[in-house]
Amino acid sequence: MLSEPSIDPLQHEWMGAASSQVLLGLDARPDFICEQIDPPVDLRDRDNLPDVGKRLGKVGRRDFQRLQQEKLAIAESLKEAGRDEDAGLLRNCCTNLIIDKYEKGRRVRGPNECKHPLCPTAQLARQRRTYRRVAQALERYLRRKEGMVGIMLTTTMESCPSHELRYRTGQLIAACSRLMTFAPVKRAVAAYVRVIEFTRNAVTQLWHPHAHWLLLVPKSYFAKGSKTFIDHDRWSKLFRKALRCAYTPIVDVRVAKGVSSPLSEAGLKPLREIAKYTTKPGTLVYWDNGMPYAVGRQRPELYRKAKGAPLEPMFNVPVMALADAVKGRRLVALSRNLETDEELDFTDDPRGDELDQTTEDLGAFICTEFYEWRGRGRHGDYFLVGRSFDEPGQHKRKEGFAMGP
Ligand SMILES: [Zn+2]
Repeated sequence: MLSEPSIDPLQHEWMGAASSQVLLGLDARPDFICEQIDPPVDLRDRDNLPDVGKRLGKVGRRDFQRLQQEKLAIAESLKEAGRDEDAGLLRNCCTNLIIDKYEKGRRVRGPNECKHPLCPTAQLARQRRTYRRVAQALERYLRRKEGMVGIMLTTTMESCPSHELRYRTGQLIAACSRLMTFAPVKRAVAAYVRVIEFTRNAVTQLWHPHAHWLLLVPKSYFAKGSKTFIDHDRWSKLFRKALRCAYTPIVDVRVAKGVSSPLSEAGLKPLREIAKYTTKPGTLVYWDNGMPYAVGRQRPELYRKAKGAPLEPMFNVPVMALADAVKGRRLVALSRNLETDEELDFTDDPRGDELDQTTEDLGAFICTEFYEWRGRGRHGDYFLVGRSFDEPGQHKRKEGFAMGP
């Protein structure tokens, strides 16, 4: 228990940041004092919750404070670009976090997660979902089909400026579908997973959309004198034909180690690779002097204010370009034989999903902690506001929050 100062708790309400900081036991960096952070809860609650106002800190390797700060930087950029609706979604995303604590680990839930394609936390959740679903589909498929092995294929196209990104992404997705209809590919490939990814060169300001594939082929594909084998040059030529372009696109092809029937633990590694992200962290945000900023807020790029409008130089283009490029597009695709009715709806609600997650490997349930996002800029962080001992998904033992152990 923190020692209680002899002040009436009711008086605290008008007190400045310096004093609430002490009372809440927040860290005492001098830069902290320059901006007020409201106590996240009524200080009277400390009777019930002695460590109220405690910062979340890292959860495993995840730094949710940093993710939220990056999210707010992207929201700011979207707002300045006139995309108020998108900005609002991101700004209201994960303003609360719920941490379920177990003996062997913690699980994080964002009850009001926005699911916006540009949101860093939504991307994490999507990544987890994609991975889980694809792993399930592959596992099931490889159990049924004997003698299958995996190939990792990357197909790329020329880099493009922001104002071409939506159009180029459409071309890439169409080319990917076309590639799978070509006779030599159909002969060789039994099943596939395809993921679209975007990278951006900060110096040239050019985007590089490309597709990662996990292909399943019968073992005979690699046999000596195989008639179905497609070498690197052939893949390159096939994708050039699919892309209908004048240049030879760069492709990369290699064996996916461990992906074979039945699916082993080692086979999950290439899967993790492929499901990892749509855009690398850092594509839209850079850090300077402890503060995150959206790329494109300093250097103008050509873009259109609206469809059909002329190109003109403007700021905050990358966030608009990526939002427009992914809008309504399916970035993860699987061959039909991998899909089944009950899954692969990639648009479903992640909330239910996460509650469904097994807790077997996490050990016994300890408690659930509730955190709220407070403060602005570098001062923003998640602060503890409540704790419950009712296990999520279980029958309630008692109402409301209880005191910590
Ligand atoms: Zn979000």
